[in-house]
Amino acid sequence: MTLVYQSTRDEKNRVTASQAILQGLATDGGLFTPITYPQVDLDFAKLKDASYQEVAKLVLSAFLDDFSEAELDHCINHAYDSKFDDAAIAPLVKLDGQYNLELFHGATIAFKDMALSILPHLMTTAAKKHGLENKIVILTATSGDTGKAAMAGFADVPGTEIIVFYPKDGVSKVQELQMTTQTGANTHVVAIDGNFDDAQTNVKHMFNDTDLRARLLEHKLQFSSANSMNIGRLVPQIVYYVYAYAQLVKTGEIAAGDKVNFTVPTGNFGNILAAYYAKQIGLPVGKLICASNENNVLTDFFKTQVYDKKRSFKVTTSPSMDILVSSNLERLIFHLSGNSAEKTAALMAALNEQGQYELTDFDADILELFVADYATEQETAAEIKRVYQASDYIEDPHTAVASAVYQKYLAETDDQRKTVIASTASPYKFPVVAVEAVTGQTGLSDFEALDQLHELSGVALPPTVDGLEKAPVRHKTTVAADQMQAAVEDYLGL
Ligand SMILES: *Cc1c(COP(=O)(O)O)cnc(C)c1O
Repeated sequence: MTLVYQSTRDEKNRVTASQAILQGLATDGGLFTPITYPQVDLDFAKLKDASYQEVAKLVLSAFLDDFSEAELDHCINHAYDSKFDDAAIAPLVKLDGQYNLELFHGATIAFKDMALSILPHLMTTAAKKHGLENKIVILTATSGDTGKAAMAGFADVPGTEIIVFYPKDGVSKVQELQMTTQTGANTHVVAIDGNFDDAQTNVKHMFNDTDLRARLLEHKLQFSSANSMNIGRLVPQIVYYVYAYAQLVKTGEIAAGDKVNFTVPTGNFGNILAAYYAKQIGLPVGKLICASNENNVLTDFFKTQVYDKKRSFKVTTSPSMDILVSSNLERLIFHLSGNSAEKTAALMAALNEQGQYELTDFDADILELFVADYATEQETAAEIKRVYQASDYIEDPHTAVASAVYQKYLAETDDQRKTVIASTASPYKFPVVAVEAVTGQTGLSDFEALDQLHELSGVALPPTVDGLEKAPVRHKTTVAADQMQAAVEDYLGL
């Protein structure tokens, strides 16, 4: 039997895994979501010695069950290869009192590479499977990391075009240059006068615009998404939670069956949702700790069950988490409401129309799995310094948000369970924040900070930032948020 992926907003809209990956978003505005979970044999006596690729095969073949074994082998082997600078792909590092799961060893040094190095292969394989003749146009809103990672994956992939929108003043200099220097004839990068939520909202509008879709089809084009709204992003992220657990068993830190907590620095709720799915296939999970920065809408939601986006948007030092509408929470809301598309659609309509909703009737067992808190800017900087002093290790600001929230949780609960921190970016992506937090200096340029970070950490400069200062800027377009569709039409010649 093939696994069913259903739209969170229409129970009749059901597709297979490969169809869900091709479409990206459901045309009713919902997100394709598994309504049952596959049986996976998580035998850690064996898995502790499995490679990352082998764990990927186990998880992907269970969730993406309409792909053949040969197709998945092809995708996995082309994704998790020498693009990663560590053979472990996602090494687990033991620090003082916590384990950091380093998800930043891919081409663009953020965790988005974990899924975006495989998504283009899954998508082109799915296109072939379904005999698709249209060109796939990847439309992406980015808070800084998805855009670059998606372009690294899709650049010059035949049959695809990729258009990325980022908030002009909402990303670090390194992030911006990584994007604007991107090569590849099929890549387009546009800065917008607006924040990430503006970018994401307008991208969703384009997906749901039937007239626009019809015009695309006339030109043999169709949209898909590289955002975590695409289930093809989420499923590959389940892999590293299983892999991290296997490493803890292997090194004797835990016995197979012991529960482990995961703390995840959260923005669009994709990464932590993947951890939730890992639990659904049998991973022994204690708590899922949802860590936010000062854009703490999720903290409030988990504490009160009221989701209220009517608050001011803050630009922080962890920009990839500067989000007020966390798209993937919709999938959890769907599960919390007993997989009810009707209830989910009503709540999402309320969010759209009133800017808030309250979840009144929910599955308490699911909600109890989650703990949520946030770290202020000051607490985040202090955490970078604390970890440096305790473990001679420099965390990036996103990881530090998670790490700080875990410290608060520990102080409040004294929960002694082993806890893994999802370490979502290399500090080289946010060098100024990292160096200033450790040394107390101020006013450094990004490139001065890169050199200092190298001296402080002893970690070699990754290729994606080495030479960035001199790389030619290829993308220079800025548009108003309401001109995004016009830019897309222009690029595609509609
Ligand atoms: C995208 C991102 C996050 C947030 O992940 P979500 O899946 O959107 O919750 C956290 N940290 C970094 C560095 C990111 O790039």
